[in-house]
Amino acid sequence: MSAASVRWQVFRRRSLLRLEPRRSELSLALALGMAMTNVSSPTGTADPISKHTQVLGTIAETRAAGRAARRAGQRVGVVPTMGALHEGHLSLVRAAKAQSDFVIVTIFVNPLQFGPKEDLSKYPRTFERDCTLLEKEGADVIFAPSVEEMYPGGAVTYVKVEGLSDRLDGVSRPGHFRGVTTVVSKLFHITEPDRAFFGQKDAAQVAVIKRMVRDLDMSVEIVVCPIVREVDGLAMSSRNAYLNATARRQGLVLSRALKRVEEMFRGGERDVRLLLAAGEEEFRSEPDVRLDYLSIGDPDTLEPVEQARHGALVAVAAYVGTTRLIDNVILGD
Ligand code: AMP
Repeated sequence: MSAASVRWQVFRRRSLLRLEPRRSELSLALALGMAMTNVSSPTGTADPISKHTQVLGTIAETRAAGRAARRAGQRVGVVPTMGALHEGHLSLVRAAKAQSDFVIVTIFVNPLQFGPKEDLSKYPRTFERDCTLLEKEGADVIFAPSVEEMYPGGAVTYVKVEGLSDRLDGVSRPGHFRGVTTVVSKLFHITEPDRAFFGQKDAAQVAVIKRMVRDLDMSVEIVVCPIVREVDGLAMSSRNAYLNATARRQGLVLSRALKRVEEMFRGGERDVRLLLAAGEEEFRSEPDVRLDYLSIGDPDTLEPVEQARHGALVAVAAYVGTTRLIDNVILGD
């Protein structure tokens, strides 16, 4: 059963049965999902679930839930995601739990941030599993709207951070960051969070969002969480699901190149041309991987620098087959 179908069933059942407002829609969603698809808990354990997680599909309900929490004196944290959750996402949820009282996780595959030839239609969707994981983490609300809910017909208003949006991923993904900042500002308006949690994995996204928050005086603190990696160094990503065993091995070249740059920097090299040349050389060992960019720049402006320094961002993007992977390190960390 598709995620949309689960949600539809939940809302249909809810309106038919007139469930009391704060009853866990998730329990119902999972009951429906599991009954029809026989999905079991991903860990296979029967951990008692300590509290209910509400699955909400409308802006009005989500806004009301966030406001009720704030009225009760709770700090609201939001974790925006596109679902297909992994440990990277869950690390953000744990940070949000530790630093807020009421945690809203959003799951929305945002069409606005995908280019016409990108992977919107095949982007991995694992809604039922995501809900199970989030309930285990103790998320209070999962906001999983439809595209129509987020972008009703006639929506023509966008948020764009000039300049930054056209650097790094913005070069090969024109319009991507405009889609990100538009949806994130909408999510901030809907959830009205005290804090919002993002991963350093998407370093350019972090820079763009921080600038948007600053420029538009948004009253939210941006918390950036470290990159979570697989044991072999591959940065976790929902898109890793596209990789077969060979591609998965080839994809390790990104973290290897970053490591090489980092080690040279630790050894005292500051010349960006030499540092980048060493990283690029690493890519020559994987001719099937197409380097999109390898850059050393300022983490706030995303502009390239000539001399590497502590705190500089080394960012990389590359295509393994048709799968685009990104990764980065901060020098001196
Ligand atoms: P996505 O679902 O890809 O839009 O990601 C949602 C959030 O999770 C973003 O803030 C990402 O930066 C963050 N994230 C994704 N992968 C990782 C990772 N490996 N480590 C830390 N955060 C991550």
